[in-house]
Amino acid sequence: MKVYQKIYQNINQNINQNIKQRKEKHMNAEILSVGTELLLGDIVNTNTQYIAKGLAELGINVYRQSVVGDNRNRLKKSMEESLQRADLLIITGGLGPTTDDLTREVAAEVLGKKLILDQSILDGIQGFFDQIKVPMEKSNNKQAYLPEGAFPIENPNGTSPGILIETGEKIVMMLPGPPRELQPMFDNHIKPYLNKYAQGIVKSKVLHVFGIGESTMEAMIEDLIEGQDNPSIAPYCMEQGLILRITARAREENTADEMIRSLEEKVQKRLGEYIYGVDHESLEGAVVKALKNKGYTLSVAESCTGGLVAASITNVPGASEVFPLALVTYSDDSKTNLLGVPKDIIKSRGAVSKETACAMAKGIQKIGGTTMGLSITGIAGPGGGTANTPLGLVHIALAFDDKVVHEEKNLLGDRNRIRQSAAKHALNLVRKVVREQ
Ligand code: ATP
Repeated sequence: MKVYQKIYQNINQNINQNIKQRKEKHMNAEILSVGTELLLGDIVNTNTQYIAKGLAELGINVYRQSVVGDNRNRLKKSMEESLQRADLLIITGGLGPTTDDLTREVAAEVLGKKLILDQSILDGIQGFFDQIKVPMEKSNNKQAYLPEGAFPIENPNGTSPGILIETGEKIVMMLPGPPRELQPMFDNHIKPYLNKYAQGIVKSKVLHVFGIGESTMEAMIEDLIEGQDNPSIAPYCMEQGLILRITARAREENTADEMIRSLEEKVQKRLGEYIYGVDHESLEGAVVKALKNKGYTLSVAESCTGGLVAASITNVPGASEVFPLALVTYSDDSKTNLLGVPKDIIKSRGAVSKETACAMAKGIQKIGGTTMGLSITGIAGPGGGTANTPLGLVHIALAFDDKVVHEEKNLLGDRNRIRQSAAKHALNLVRKVVREQ
């Protein structure tokens, strides 16, 4: 392995002469994933997503992504077509030792190069098997062959090196399929290598939004989105809520930072109360941080969410400072016996009602001896909905001092979605109330 690390270092010297030309032209890229299991839907194409994100950060345009099965003719055709369009072609998968791993052979054929045994790679592969004390199969030999003029890229997590080849105007990279091999290779070698072609620097900042719908959010910042170019602002609807990604391109990093800061300030003015965090911050992380800042504590009583709120809060390191107690009170009896919700409230108003939620919140606040007590009760379905308490109806209450704040939500989706969404709304209620204090 060490031997071909040295070879890799030579790549840079050999190809520097092409950099200037490509920078002026602005490189465009295509990603081609190889594997019949991708076409069958057996695995999700996370490699393409990973590479596409990485290229976007470098400001390299990806014009096409395609998937092809382990079939020689179709693979050849796909490579040929991609190379007619793209300056940079990144291929993933099909570098393994088995007969259906065809990428290296077909690429050599398409590029008109012979495959040549690289003894240092063979030694590296042999060393890998010696280390894990497993005999090396003959079939692994084929992983030590490279198209003439290509460079191997170190793979400390598997036997197949990546392959990089520059031919005239084109760059072709072949990366192994397993994500645990591909991702470090992409981060440690491909990105630094491609960075030379990046035009200046591209920086992004993500703002996490919760509590409004996508269309409302867009309407509130329509003028900022319209006519945007650099920095750009893009809304996305993700599993965890909405995000806004601000991206700036500049020659210098601090210019990009300043461009992002100035646009973020405008967005914060409009959407501030709905923005709970930036970049990798989570809603539960924001809640724990807010509670700590104010010196508050929180206990939780959950019914339909069955512990989802407690699970997410305890995901946050250091949550124990502000979060001593959670109970899942699923039955009517447990709401009465543990939280002290009066029986007649449950009987007259129902277990899913404002009154029950408020009594639960006060009950858990008292038992926990905390500044705040949060409760959630609702109908997650699929059965159990009635005209008065329809599927997706959720009551959330937050007891604070001697007050109780209540929210009623009518949530959409299946059981899982309703429960997840109820837990998020409950966390967001805590965030909002703490923020107002
Ligand atoms: P190996 O040496 O393990 O055979 P390889 O380069 O030949 O590696 P493949 O055989 O094509 O890669 O894929 C190996 C495994 O990697 C697949 O079974 C799958 O689990 C994963 N994989 C392949 N391509 C992708 C992809 N595009 N996205 C996510 N995972 C992938």
